[in-house]
Amino acid sequence: MHPKTLTALYISLSLALISSTCMAQSAFEKEIAPAATPSSYRWWNLLHYEIELQPDYNRQWISGTNQIRFCALHTGNTIRIDLMEPMQVTTVRLQGIALDFQRLKDYYLIHLPSFLHAGDTATITIHFEGYPQVAHNPPWESGWIWQQDQLGRPWMSIACEGTGAAIWLPCKNVLYDKPDQGISMKIRVPDTLVAVSNGRLASIQKMSDHTAIYTWVVINPISQYNIIPYIGKYISWHNNYTGLKGNLDCDFLVLDYNSEKAKHHLQQTDTMLHCFEGWLGPYPFYEDSYKLVEAPMPGMEHQSAIAYGNGFENGYSGNNLSGTSWGLKWDFILIHESGHEWFGNSITSNGDGGSWIHEGFTKYLETLYTQDRWGTEAGNDYTAGISKRIHNDAPVITGASSDAYNKTAAMLHMLRQLIGDSLFRSFLQHMNTQFYHATISSEQVISYINRFTIYKYKTMLDQYLRTTQIPQLSYYFKGGLFRYRWENCITGFDMPVKVSFNNDPPVWLYPVEQWKEIKLEKSMDNTMKVDRNFYIKSRSIQDQ
Ligand SMILES: [Zn+2]
Repeated sequence: MHPKTLTALYISLSLALISSTCMAQSAFEKEIAPAATPSSYRWWNLLHYEIELQPDYNRQWISGTNQIRFCALHTGNTIRIDLMEPMQVTTVRLQGIALDFQRLKDYYLIHLPSFLHAGDTATITIHFEGYPQVAHNPPWESGWIWQQDQLGRPWMSIACEGTGAAIWLPCKNVLYDKPDQGISMKIRVPDTLVAVSNGRLASIQKMSDHTAIYTWVVINPISQYNIIPYIGKYISWHNNYTGLKGNLDCDFLVLDYNSEKAKHHLQQTDTMLHCFEGWLGPYPFYEDSYKLVEAPMPGMEHQSAIAYGNGFENGYSGNNLSGTSWGLKWDFILIHESGHEWFGNSITSNGDGGSWIHEGFTKYLETLYTQDRWGTEAGNDYTAGISKRIHNDAPVITGASSDAYNKTAAMLHMLRQLIGDSLFRSFLQHMNTQFYHATISSEQVISYINRFTIYKYKTMLDQYLRTTQIPQLSYYFKGGLFRYRWENCITGFDMPVKVSFNNDPPVWLYPVEQWKEIKLEKSMDNTMKVDRNFYIKSRSIQDQ
C-alpha cells in the first residue's frame, strides 16, 4: 500500500500522537536561523535525539535508529532530515505507524499525517543503514574511520566537522538548531571492545551474543558534528577537578597500552581547566562531565568527549604551530580542542560564516594559556608567532579563509591591549554568560563587542573582520615634530596604537586618516617602534 493512502487514517490518529507541551520557545530564541534556511527546517525546533547504532567493523557497514523529538514553532507538516549518500533511510515511523518520505539526494522530506501547530511536539523514529563514506585522512576528510590499533584490534570513530553528522546519521544537519534537551546514544559492540560517546555513561548491557550495549546520555544541547561514537580497547581513569561550579567529573579514556604515558602527560588538564575557567567562567558542561578520548585522528572538539590523537606529547605532532618555542611547552590538541567547549560547543556559530567565533577565540586561548603559565611576554611571543601565518586572502567574516584562526586571535590580542586584562577578562566571561549554549551569528558577536566597549573599537572590528587590508601607520619626523596618520584602511579607521620613541617607555597614539602631530623632546635622530602586540604595518615616509 502506498503510504499516501493512509493519510486519512493518520489524521484521526495524529492528534493522539502529538503532545502540545512544547516549552522550547525560549531555547529557540537562542537559536537564530541564517537567512537562507529552507522552510522545511525552519518551522520546527529540535528537542532530542535518541540514537541506536550498531557498526559492523568487518563489512564497514552501520545500521541504527534515530528517534527525533521536535516541536513546531509554526504550522507545518513536512520536515527535512539529512542523510548523505550512500547511507539510506529504510523506514520512518510516528509511534509505530509508517510515514511517507521521499529522497532528494542527500536529504529526505518526511510527510507528517497532519499539520502540527506552534507548540505541538512529536517524535519520529528513523531507521537507517548503509556503507558510510570512509575518511582516509581524518579529520580533514569526513567519514567513518575503520582503523586497527597497534595490536590489530578494531578502532572506530567518525570525522564530520564541516560535512556534518548527516554523513552517517539522519539528523537536522545545521549548526543553528541543536537538540535542546540533548541526546542519548546506545552503541552495540563486541563485548571485547568499549564504546564511548558524549556525556555520561548510563549503562552497560551485556548481551548473550557476546555483544554489549553502551548507553551514553547528554543533557545539554549539542551540535550534530559533535555527536560521536568511539569504539576501541579503552581503559579509563577518573579525576575530580574542583572548579567554579563545584566538582567537575573528568574522565580519560585511552587505548590500554597507552595508559601509563597518558596518565602522566594529561596531568596538564587541571592547569588548563584552571586557566580557562579563570578567563572564561565555568566549564559549560558540568552536567555532562569533561572527557578526553584517544581517537584515531589528531583531534576534534566533540562536546564532553574531546577527540585526542596527539601521541601524549607536547606541541602538535611534535611540532609547534607558532614558530616560537612556546608551542612545544604544552599539548596543542588538549588545549585547543578543550578550548572549543566554550567557543564552538557552548557558543556556537549559526553557520553563517562564523568559523572565526569558534576558531579565532579558541586560538586566542592558546595565548592566554601560554601567558598564564610562562608570563606576559611568552604570550606576546606566541601571538607574534601565529600572526606571521595570517594570509589576508579573504575577509575573516566570510568564513573563506584560515585567517579565522590567527587573524581573529591577533585582533583579540589588540583588543586586550586596548581595554586591559581586567576588562578583557570580564568581556570573555560576560560573553560566555550572554551566549551560554546559544547559536549566534557573526553580527551578533560584533554587536556584542561593540556594546561592551561602548563602540570605541567599531572601526577596528570592521577593518580586521571585514577587509583584508593591513592598516598602515605612516609617519615622519620634522623639526621636532612627529607626524602620523592611518593609511590603507577603511574610512574613519581610528584604532589607537602603542609605540615607543627612542626606546623610551611606550606611549599611546590616536591616529586617524588625517595627519596628526606631537612634539618630541629631541629634535634630531628620532626613532619610532610600534608595539609588537599590534598587527599593523608602519612606514616612514621621511624621504618623500
Ligand atoms: Zn579548532
